[in-house]
Amino acid sequence: MQDNQPPSLDTLGRPLGSLRLSVTDRCNLRCSYCMPADSYTWLPREDLLRFEELRRLCGAFVSLGCDRIRLTGGEPLLRRDLPELVRLLRALPGLKDLALTTNGLLLEGLARQLAEAGLPRITVSLDTLQPARFMSISKRDGLPQVLRGIAAASEAGFESLKLDSVIMRGVNDDEIPALIDFARSMRAEIRFIEYMDVGGASQWSAERVVPAAEILKIIEKSHGPAQRETTQGRAPATPWRLGDGTPFGIIASMSAPFCDACDRSRVTADGQWFHCLYAERGTDLRGLLRAGATDAELMSSIRSAWAGRDDRGAMQRLGLSVRTAISGDAHNEMHVRGG
Ligand code: SAM
Ligand code: SF4
Ligand code: SF4
Repeated sequence: MQDNQPPSLDTLGRPLGSLRLSVTDRCNLRCSYCMPADSYTWLPREDLLRFEELRRLCGAFVSLGCDRIRLTGGEPLLRRDLPELVRLLRALPGLKDLALTTNGLLLEGLARQLAEAGLPRITVSLDTLQPARFMSISKRDGLPQVLRGIAAASEAGFESLKLDSVIMRGVNDDEIPALIDFARSMRAEIRFIEYMDVGGASQWSAERVVPAAEILKIIEKSHGPAQRETTQGRAPATPWRLGDGTPFGIIASMSAPFCDACDRSRVTADGQWFHCLYAERGTDLRGLLRAGATDAELMSSIRSAWAGRDDRGAMQRLGLSVRTAISGDAHNEMHVRGG
């Protein structure tokens, strides 16, 4: 695939830079901030993009300048033969970064295969180090498995291992110092994420958000002063470093949204492309693929849709007097949209 045109920019001059690619909507946890409902409507299996379709789609995005892809879900490790998909995507010329976000439950058995397939970076979600609390947050009993998965990832030779913690007031905000210490023991960098009012986060309330400034205060109280580092490119996390060199990040998605620099979009496992985490409508790329679109047609559709992008979801929501999570359609759910 070749495209010699200038970089794809949206109406606010933001490039098509990174893609979160969901490979399944299924999950083996039921985190309260993501999947709190009793039952879900799953995407029909025949609608899920096959590996060859995912490769073609990613090839089109990469040719348009999108050089970073993150595999996500649902739980991406539930997708059969995932290391094979990693191999296919790694071979895309122009792709500079490939990463994966997982809940870690199945990681112990897959970490080495993923590293050998060429996955450079992995992020494991970890909100607590207490088994009973893990059960209460995720409705499943799996903390020891997740911790073994993180240890396996730490040994598997990834270039980067990160841990992501969603911090909720009165739920796990007392564990911030312990999570820092645990990450350091695993040679991982931890990032604390503000609890967001997205998709299925029906238990969200403004009171339960622990703002970035408060997270930093808690860390400095337990671990001493932290130094702010230079932000890397368009990464959402503000990087910090403790006096002993321990790095950590804080993602202020609610208190200081980063929409103005946002180059990120999302493709669901059934090929719907959303320009923003909060976007209510997507573009049906599966339909195009299955209707026999050529690579050039695929690229042209993506380029022209991106040219019309004006989304600033989180910043627009700052002005709302009443905030509730958007839900109602499976495609609006966080586990379908990929976080
Ligand atoms: N299942 C994988 C996992 O949990 O890492 C990947 C998909 S999950 C939807 C991606 C990320 O979204 C996770 O780090 C999760 O913590 C985050 N997430 C889900 N709901 C959230 C919410 N309401 N606020 C903040 N982060 C959320
Ligand atoms: Fe939890 Fe990730 Fe599953 Fe959502 S998709 S319920 S965040 S493990
Ligand atoms: Fe990007 Fe939308 Fe998130 Fe803003 S709310 S940072 S535009 S995905």
